[in-house]
Amino acid sequence: MKLTINGTGYVGLVTGACFAEVGHHVLCVDNDAAKIKLLKEGGIPIYEPGLEELVKKNVAAGRLSFTTSIAEGVQKSDVIFIAVPTPPQPDGSVDLSFIERVARDIAAAMTDYKIVVDKSTVPVKTGEKVAETIKRYCPAKVDFDVVSNPEFLREGFAVCDLMKPNRIVIGVRSQRPVAVMKKIYTPFNAPIVVTDINSAELIKHASNSFLALKISYINAVAVLCEATGANVQEVAAGMGMDERIGRPFLNAGIGFGGSCFPKDLSAFVKIAEQIGYDFHLLKEVQRINAGQMERFVKKITDTLWVLKDKKIGVLGLAFKQNTDDVRTSPAIELCQRLQKEGATLRVHDPKAMGKARAILSNVTYVDDMNDVAEGCDALVVATEWDEFKKLDLERARKSLSHPIMFDGRNLFDPGEMGRLGWIYKSVGR
Ligand code: NAD
Repeated sequence: MKLTINGTGYVGLVTGACFAEVGHHVLCVDNDAAKIKLLKEGGIPIYEPGLEELVKKNVAAGRLSFTTSIAEGVQKSDVIFIAVPTPPQPDGSVDLSFIERVARDIAAAMTDYKIVVDKSTVPVKTGEKVAETIKRYCPAKVDFDVVSNPEFLREGFAVCDLMKPNRIVIGVRSQRPVAVMKKIYTPFNAPIVVTDINSAELIKHASNSFLALKISYINAVAVLCEATGANVQEVAAGMGMDERIGRPFLNAGIGFGGSCFPKDLSAFVKIAEQIGYDFHLLKEVQRINAGQMERFVKKITDTLWVLKDKKIGVLGLAFKQNTDDVRTSPAIELCQRLQKEGATLRVHDPKAMGKARAILSNVTYVDDMNDVAEGCDALVVATEWDEFKKLDLERARKSLSHPIMFDGRNLFDPGEMGRLGWIYKSVGR
């Protein structure tokens, strides 16, 4: 099938590559000319495991191409996806101007029936607004359908999640686009849930808010563990074996971040507020998340006392492992908090240093994780990269003025760290 995707970012590019991989012909559109130029020259603007190979393979096979022209995208395909940003506004509500802009541009170029599919995460009832906008701005007054098809990929596992999805959600206002949408997704062998548009939009916000809630829940339990001498990882393991609960998203730490959970949570709280419901439960999820960062910074200052003129090594800048994404990264926030207290920082991340440089200055970027501790007073783990578990602990211990580690992601075993001579502080253990 011929498909167009507007927005060639973490969602749009990976979706485009995976659609091409299963045999569709995909045109990825972006209004960032530099990004499209890079892609046309064989570069990849983001890091996502397996993505580079997939893009190169499908470009070579002639199934994946790139353009800055929305009109070209509309002309060449019958199904037009939208995967543009939906960033938060200062009051927590969603900035829908990117969606509105792209809907208008699609409408302006439509000369025959199209299916316009929203993949961006949007507040309930956005589909109705998109349909109104297309109707208003389409000079040819042609027939069309709007579909909500929320995306559930996890950054760092995006290719895997797209190729093997748990479920595909398709929200429609008529049956007409259902067969086409099912045909697009048939090669992925996943259950397809067909709902009305409002329900599809709510499924996405309700899912992300629930996952964030799970993280805040275990972080709250971690506070009790710390106060009672219990071990939150053992508690999470025991809880997670109950299939009604499940182990994923029960990792205590310095809290969730990234471009989705904080903004989707705020949006959901705001949506509820607009219809007169005070979603206290989710406000508490936000409060607990902010508290985790406070508690971790306090743990550092309680131990090191004055941070002014202290040198701290930080492992991790990405908001989680396997990605170069630093948007709303707790690791970056932690670095900024430590800088504000007067500490100087040596930092390392396997993939995110390039993107971090744009938002985190006055730090020393270190290429090798084993060099980070050099001349520092303490080491901090801020992102759960698997490779940090292979840190040369003996070398790090000798490089530090005192062998102190604050592990915000519980990567190491407290007993083992004690035996190795470390003063080791983690979360909930
Ligand atoms: P992104 O910032 O990585 O990519 C968005 C792209 O859209 C950018 O390249 C931008 O240049 C482009 N763009 C903006 N305006 C445009 C326009 N008018 N025409 C064409 N392109 C335009 O964002 P993302 O992380 O891919 O997120 C996109 C949407 O998907 C958001 O609503 C997000 O909440 C949702 N989502 C994200 C994830 C994730 O893990 N990143 C997962 C699920 C859903």
